Amino acid sequence: MTPSHIEHIGIAVTNLEEAIRYWEDVMGLKCYAIEEVVDQKVKTAFFRCGDVKIELLEPTCPESTIAAFIEKNGGKGGMHHIAFAMEDTDQALNEAKDKGIRLIDNQSRPGAEGLQIGFLHPKSTLGVLTEFCCKK
Ligand code: ZN
Repeated sequence: MTPSHIEHIGIAVTNLEEAIRYWEDVMGLKCYAIEEVVDQKVKTAFFRCGDVKIELLEPTCPESTIAAFIEKNGGKGGMHHIAFAMEDTDQALNEAKDKGIRLIDNQSRPGAEGLQIGFLHPKSTLGVLTEFCCKK
């Protein structure tokens, strides 16, 4: 299993509109999609920066894992995860599991932008919340 590239960087935000303004006005990137992912209880906004996307994540309810992250982070947003493009998310998850890596998702699930996604547990990845994703 080898990632082909970094698909996106996930950033937790407390206020999506305010965050979009920052990324457009200060960073000069254009928001090209806003999408609610009901399954993950988040509203997302996407920007392209070369081959890598920036994914902003705003929680849509207090039970969202992003809401928990923001709470742990002293009420502030911040760097949340790195997503690697894999050929097959399920296969990559299985290979990681075989190497003793703890998974958050034993099976891939639908994410934003029609990708199949799955997360590795940060306790097994030296503190970096890691997402695998593929087009399917
Ligand atoms: Zn992501």
